[in-house]
Amino acid sequence: EMVSAEEISVSSTAGSRPTSKDAIINLDHGDPTVYEAFWKRMGERGDIVLPGWQSMSYFSDVSNLCWFLEPEFAHQVRRLHSLVGNAVVDDGRFIIVGTGSTQLFQAALYALSPPDAAEPMNVVSAIPYYSSYPTVTDYLRSGLYRWAGDASTFEGDAYIELVCSPNNPDGSIREAVLSSKNGKTIHDLAYYWPQYTPITGAADHDIMLFTVSKSTGHAGARLGYTSSPSSAVEIEHLCLMYLVNLRWALVKDKDVAKRMIKFIELNTIGVSKDSQLRVAKILKVVSDGYGLPGNKHRLFEYGRRLMSVRWRKLRAAVKASGIFSLPEFPSSLCRFTGEETETYPAFAWLKCEKEGVEDCESFLRNHKLLTRSGRHFGVEAKYVRISMLDRDETFDLFIQRLLSLR
Ligand code: PMP
Repeated sequence: EMVSAEEISVSSTAGSRPTSKDAIINLDHGDPTVYEAFWKRMGERGDIVLPGWQSMSYFSDVSNLCWFLEPEFAHQVRRLHSLVGNAVVDDGRFIIVGTGSTQLFQAALYALSPPDAAEPMNVVSAIPYYSSYPTVTDYLRSGLYRWAGDASTFEGDAYIELVCSPNNPDGSIREAVLSSKNGKTIHDLAYYWPQYTPITGAADHDIMLFTVSKSTGHAGARLGYTSSPSSAVEIEHLCLMYLVNLRWALVKDKDVAKRMIKFIELNTIGVSKDSQLRVAKILKVVSDGYGLPGNKHRLFEYGRRLMSVRWRKLRAAVKASGIFSLPEFPSSLCRFTGEETETYPAFAWLKCEKEGVEDCESFLRNHKLLTRSGRHFGVEAKYVRISMLDRDETFDLFIQRLLSLR
């Protein structure tokens, strides 16, 4: 009883809900719908009203290097990072907002690659690496940069190393594996938030990427941001937010920041003001929640509790199945909560130990469970990545499905 590709595409996409006990369960994407329940509970606190005449201009603040960055968004980004203590956001850093991390990531590649080199810059990341890194790097066949694979086996000193920590797909805490005078690094800190991992200190790298997709769950806002200190990288396209797929980058070096902003200007002439205002409100609600009594309004506590329950259920199911294994993680003191805490990654990095099964993705697909093969992350097909961020009902179906496998 193989499942056809057509059946999969019509009956289940990420974001949809499985309708019956034996429905197709799609956990291929990291769609963060787990946070919907929290935001429903927040009621109208998270609402915004935008008058028809507002945000019509291309510009947000012409006095800012990142002229399309909404001041209120930037303010809420700095406020939230100061509260959580996960990244340095002092005045020496530029905040750049982008349309999802994908845009900021490309802006950073553009900014860090010399414009006149004979050969494209090598872009590397240690295996298992986030599956979008190779595809996003190479889809336009840029003359500026090219994917060069696993950082741990890379030889040479001209490179851009992507460091994702905690890492997508396996949840490990990472540092750059390469070091060279000419090498550059981009830190993707999408998951460096207290619901997933202990906050062990304020990150202070040249270019740091964040996204609201995984912090507040607003992947649909397409907002990210970056920050960098004022020293060595040119960021021309980092004015995104962190909530609804808005991402942001925190960038240290002014020239790098300028180049990133230039990329965003060339690519999309800025970033949606509506998204930035919406995410500013969402971030404000998160920070405000920590000034209110009780736990009800505290997003990170909510997320951490939920993730700990899910990981407990998952580990129990994996143990009962006898045919899978999962990575183990050390616990550490979280400086945000003040408690010794465990790691609860946004993805389960599942290894199939069943004899004769080399391709875990196909094995699970035949049981109507859609996951992403280790091959996309540069490793063997015995591994798959499974999202832990779907809605409760989908997650519980997933656990039942796992328990039915032998
Ligand atoms: N970086 C990492 C490591 C991710 O896992 C994701 C989302 N899967 C992204 C970036 C993309 O985030 P965004 O939605 O902001 O584009």
